[in-house]
Amino acid sequence: MGPNSDRLPIAILGAGLTGLSAARQLVRAGRRVVVFDPAPAPGGVIRSERHEPGWLIESGPNSLQEPPAVAALVRELGLAPRRQPAAPAAKNRYILRDGVLRPLPTSPPAFLRSDVFSARTKFRVLREFFHPRQPRLHDLPLADFFREHFGPELLAYALDPFVSGIYAGDPARLSARHSFPSLWKGEHEHGSLIRAQLASARAKRARGEPAGPPPIISFTDGLVELPRALAAALPPGSLRLDTTVNQLTPGPDGWILDAAPGERFARVILALPAPALARLGLGSPGAPTSLASLDLLEHPPVTALFLGYRRVDVEHPLDGFGVLFPSVENRRLLGVLFNSTLFPGRAPADHVALTVMLGGARQPDLARQPVEYQLPVVQKELAALLGARRPPVFVRRTHWPRAIPQYQMTHDSHLEVMAAAEKRLPGLHIGGPVRDGIGLPACLAAGDRLAAAALEA
Ligand SMILES: Cc1cc2nc3c(=O)[nH]c(=O)nc-3n(C[C@H](O)[C@H](O)[C@H](O)COP(=O)(O)OP(=O)(O)OC[C@H]3O[C@@H](n4cnc5c(N)ncnc54)[C@H](O)[C@@H]3O)c2cc1C
Repeated sequence: MGPNSDRLPIAILGAGLTGLSAARQLVRAGRRVVVFDPAPAPGGVIRSERHEPGWLIESGPNSLQEPPAVAALVRELGLAPRRQPAAPAAKNRYILRDGVLRPLPTSPPAFLRSDVFSARTKFRVLREFFHPRQPRLHDLPLADFFREHFGPELLAYALDPFVSGIYAGDPARLSARHSFPSLWKGEHEHGSLIRAQLASARAKRARGEPAGPPPIISFTDGLVELPRALAAALPPGSLRLDTTVNQLTPGPDGWILDAAPGERFARVILALPAPALARLGLGSPGAPTSLASLDLLEHPPVTALFLGYRRVDVEHPLDGFGVLFPSVENRRLLGVLFNSTLFPGRAPADHVALTVMLGGARQPDLARQPVEYQLPVVQKELAALLGARRPPVFVRRTHWPRAIPQYQMTHDSHLEVMAAAEKRLPGLHIGGPVRDGIGLPACLAAGDRLAAAALEA
């Protein structure tokens, strides 16, 4: 590319959290950016919507973990007055065990006192402290990795529902190394995952950070405030919504995008989900580079049912974050979030709001059913579990045909395809949940990584 290429803007495909985070860092470094997205609004899968008379619906992600880097961003964007920390009750998380909802213990003493786990499992967990450090040469399924450390009961009643809540996935099919890299690294460095956890807490304290898990937050109008604020902070003209890019071609004077004829870009950042990457036309017609195999990356379907009830119609105190369902309990729900407990202003007075997640890797067909089929299934379950004795007064269904990428045992091959495309096409940078982790903080960090790579190139 010519000597003036650094004066050209950088193109970013995707105005979700990953793309907007990359854009922010590049603008701070003094570069011009153009962010393209076919959607009419920024935010990608983050969709918060108000509905009279007082519902606030999150159809995609519901909550954001706030490690120090996210806290700093929230302050810098001027969102501090809009920030809503999760209610203290949200520390309480229920799981289903033998058909009954029980609070998951949240501290070591509570774990030892809890009747959720057997004495044998408690002993097994204590013994894990002495798990030897031994080199592990090969990746293995997350379920096998976790069972080796903590035994079958903790796998069935802690990891399995947790993985359902995060990935809507199956721990027997996820890669330990890719889906939980911090556990993998912890084992590599300490042998025992408990010792790794203690070391991480000590390191956090040494940095002056609280040792526990980061706070969980949202905003007055929901999570969408974060991408909206990121977009609003970009210079005018940086965001091109309602614009799909289908073809990217590198040339001697910069990259050419079919959606911006006559313009040239110094570099291109792809902050897109795997199916969109797979569809992209990349490279010159005589020497195409394909990301088509990324379409094989599994994303099980999920349906989110936002349900509003009159408070008197639900017996359960809803005093928690929600409920997760271990697969061994054979229920038809993946999880239920207690939205109106978690954050204020999610339901009208004297009402409560729940979000039921259906489908995932466990029951993909259920996610694909119409609401007329799903609602009676859900009502029956919620009547039994939460004492929801009358039907909801408000229902909003959102179907995600391909919700969350599953980092399975074949994930290395997908990473190699992306690395090979970047090598072949200098100035191309790919990142986001397809590569860098699926949670919102990971997307923000992916944006930082992509921006740094584009500045270095
Ligand atoms: C149902 C659900 C619940 C979740 N819950 C949580 C949660 O509670 N907490 C949490 O931390 N994480 C959660 N996640 C994960 C998290 O929301 C996502 O990983 C994250 O929002 C992805 O952001 P992104 O910018 O990388 O991608 P996306 O948000 O998918 O954005 C990609 C953008 O690319 C655009 N695009 C597509 N094709 C093109 C093209 N050809 N050219 C230009 N643009 C294009 C799309 O329109 C989209 O706006 C959830 C995800 C889902 C689906």
